[in-house]
Amino acid sequence: MLAHSRGDYSAVAKTLGVSYFLDADDLCEQHPEVIIICTSIFSTKQVLCSLPLSRLKRSTLFVDVLSVKEFPRDLFLQTLPNEFDILCTHPMFGPESGKKGWNELPFVYDKVRIGDELSRVSRCDKFLNIFKKEGCKMVEMSCEEHDQHAAGSQFITHTVGRILEKLGLKETPINTKGYDALLNLVKNTASDSFDLYYGLFLYNTNSMDQLDLLNKAIRSVKNELFWHMNEFLRKQNFGYLEEGLSIIPLNGVALSSPYDNVNDRSNSFSLPPRQHYETQISNLFDKPPKLKIAIIGFGNFGQFLAKTLVKQQHTVLAYSRSDRFAEARSLGVSFSHDLDDLCEQHPDVVLISTSITSTEEVLCSLPIKRLKRNTLFVDVLSVKEFPRNLFLQNLPNGFDILCTHPMFGPESGKSGWDGLKFVYEKVRIGEEESRVLRCNRFLDIFNCEKCEMVEMSCAEHDLHAAGSQFITHTVARILKKLGLEATPIDTKGYEKLLNLVENSGSDSFDLFYGLFMYNPNSMEQLELLHTAFESLTMELFGRLVNVSKKQLSGKFE
Ligand code: NAP
Repeated sequence: MLAHSRGDYSAVAKTLGVSYFLDADDLCEQHPEVIIICTSIFSTKQVLCSLPLSRLKRSTLFVDVLSVKEFPRDLFLQTLPNEFDILCTHPMFGPESGKKGWNELPFVYDKVRIGDELSRVSRCDKFLNIFKKEGCKMVEMSCEEHDQHAAGSQFITHTVGRILEKLGLKETPINTKGYDALLNLVKNTASDSFDLYYGLFLYNTNSMDQLDLLNKAIRSVKNELFWHMNEFLRKQNFGYLEEGLSIIPLNGVALSSPYDNVNDRSNSFSLPPRQHYETQISNLFDKPPKLKIAIIGFGNFGQFLAKTLVKQQHTVLAYSRSDRFAEARSLGVSFSHDLDDLCEQHPDVVLISTSITSTEEVLCSLPIKRLKRNTLFVDVLSVKEFPRNLFLQNLPNGFDILCTHPMFGPESGKSGWDGLKFVYEKVRIGEEESRVLRCNRFLDIFNCEKCEMVEMSCAEHDLHAAGSQFITHTVARILKKLGLEATPIDTKGYEKLLNLVENSGSDSFDLFYGLFMYNPNSMEQLELLHTAFESLTMELFGRLVNVSKKQLSGKFE
C-alpha cells in the first residue's frame, strides 16, 4: 500500500503500514496496479492533471471514491490515456458511519472502462472484492443514476447535519429517539470536511434545486405556524372573550385563570373531614391493585396509552370530543360521550391526553364536582410548566397532581417501551399512604414496561425540551415537505432522516403547534434554525462567488 498527498503524512502512514511518498513521481515509478483518487472533489482536476501519468504502467486501473460521480467519470475519460482502466466508485459511508465495520453499508460502482483482457477484468474484480469481503452491499449503478439519487438524499442529509451543527445541539437527560437521531446526524456529518460538502453542492447539478426546496419548506413550516398563531390570537380576542372564557396561557405563562378567582373555585368544594377520605381510600386499596383510569382526549396518543393500560388489566374509561366508540371497543375501553357520566364512575386517575392548545378549555369543562374529592390528575402533555400551572390553579387542593411526559409516541414506542424515557414530577401528592401508593401504582405502569423513569421538575423538563423536542419536530416537518423517499444507495445519515419523518408522521399539527405556542423558547429556536440555514447558504454562495471571480480575473489577466 502506497500513498501520496500534498502535505506530509508520513508519520500517520507509518502507523497504518503504508509507504508514504512526498513526490508523486517516486510513487508512480513504483508501478502500482491501482491508483485511488481520494482528493477533495474540486481539487481532483488539478491533482489528476499534475500526476506524472507517463511514469505509470500503461494499463493502470484508476479508481475514484468521490461523493459525486458524473464529474470524475467525465474527467477521467477526458484526461486518462485510452489504455488506462477506469472504475468510478462511491462508498456510501465514512469514518463515523463505518467505524464499527462496513457490513451492509452500500458500495456503489460503475465499471466505466475496463479492458477485455482477463488480467484487467480480474484486477477490477479483485479490487471490488475488498469491499465485498467486508460485507458491503455492492450496488452496480451508472454514474448518472447515482447522482440523481444522491442529490435528494446525500446533499440534503449533509445540509441538515450542517444546519443543526450550527445550532450547537446538546445531549439532554430526556432525549427522544428522534433527537438522538439528530445528534447522531450532526456527529456523522461534522466529521466530514466543508470541502466535501461544498463539492456535493458544486458538482451535483441538482443541489441548487434541493437547497431552494429546503428554503421553501422552512418558510412554509414557519408560515403555517404564524398563520395558526394569528388565527389563535384572533379567536382569543374575538371568540373566547365573547364566550366569557379567559385568555389561554401562552408560552407557559398563565395570562389569567379561566375562573376569576381560583380560590373561589376551591372554596366551592367543602372539604370533608380527614377520616372520611381515609375510609374511602382504604376501600379503594382493599381491592386488587388495579386502577380505574379515565382518559380525557382519546386521540392518537390516548389510544396508544390505552393499549398498554388495558394489557396491564387496569379498567380504562375514555372521553373525547369526537365519536371514538369504535376505537374504544376494539381496545377494550369503555367510551363515554358525556363527561358527567364519566366522572360519576369515580375513576382513581383522570389522565389528560388532549392537544396542548385545548387542555385549558377541556379542563374547565370537566364537572370535577362529580369526581371523588381526592382523584389523581395526570397529564401527558409534551410541555410541562403549562399543565402544571393550569392544574395548580384549577384543581381543588384535595386533588393529587402528577405531571408526566412519556418521551415517545405511537411510532417510536410501537415495538415496546423498553429503555424509553418517562419524565414525571409529583407536583402535589397527599401525604396519606394510600395516595402515595396510588401515584406509585400509576408510575409502575411505565416501570413495568421497563421505561427509563426520570423524575424531573416541569421547569427543568421544559428547559431541556425547548432545544431538543421542538427542533426535532420542526426538522421532521420541514423534511416531510420535501417528500424524501428511500433510494437504493441510502447512507446511514439519510436513513436516519427518513426514520425521523416516519416517526413523526402520525403526530398531529396540533401537537407541533402546541410545542411552538407553549414553549417559551420555541420562537427563538425557529429563528435560529432559519438563520443557521441562511448562514450555511451564504457560506456556499460566498465560495461560489469567489470561484467565479477567480475564473473571471483569470480570463482577463
Ligand atoms: P393532539 O393533536 O395533540 O391531541 C389530540 C387530542 O386532543 C384528541 O383526543 C382530540 O379530541 C383532543 N382535542 C383537540 N382539540 C380539542 C378541543 N378543541 N376540544 C376538545 N378536545 C380536543 O395529538 P395526540 O398525539 O393524541 O397527543 C395528545 C397529547 O399527548 C398531547 O398533549 C401531546 O402533547 C401528548 N403527547 C403526545 C405524544 C405523541 O407522540 N403523539 C407523545 C407524548 C405526549 P378528539 O379525539 O375528539 O379529536
